[in-house]
Amino acid sequence: MDNLKQFNNEEIINFIKNGKVTVADIVDSGICPTCFDKKNNHILYGDKTDKIIFENDKFECFLVGNPRANGHTAISTKEHYKDMMEIDDKTCKEIFILAKKVMKALKEIYKAESVYLCTMCDGPMNHFHIQLIPRYSFEKRGAKNFVKPRFEYKEDREKLQQLRKKLY
Ligand SMILES: [Zn+2]
Repeated sequence: MDNLKQFNNEEIINFIKNGKVTVADIVDSGICPTCFDKKNNHILYGDKTDKIIFENDKFECFLVGNPRANGHTAISTKEHYKDMMEIDDKTCKEIFILAKKVMKALKEIYKAESVYLCTMCDGPMNHFHIQLIPRYSFEKRGAKNFVKPRFEYKEDREKLQQLRKKLY
């Protein structure tokens, strides 16, 4: 697929519906997939309202749909920033304080031994977010925890409620 910027929004949506365009194509065209998804009724990632564990006017924090561990969480800014280097200091401070709070909640509620943090927004376009990945006692310590195989998210209502209670 050529650069998608030559097409209008409706045309891109049709390409997606017909399976002719992937998220990678969108990123490679310099279009932010997260902002595109939000603007177009969650056509790329689906509605994640049921996975939100905290939200305010600046950030949203949600369990990811294809986690690498139970409790794998993402925190993203509502405003568009390409990566961490683009955010202002105040936002940087706020998101890391929030991340600390979420890590503590995940550790406690999921009984994780530790929680790893990474951010690796890369490519021509991306939407700044932080990933939090629990590491459990039955898993070895180390960087391999960042690339544990992904699996399908299964809702755990009780843990969702506990997380929301802790974070609000
Ligand atoms: Zn964006």
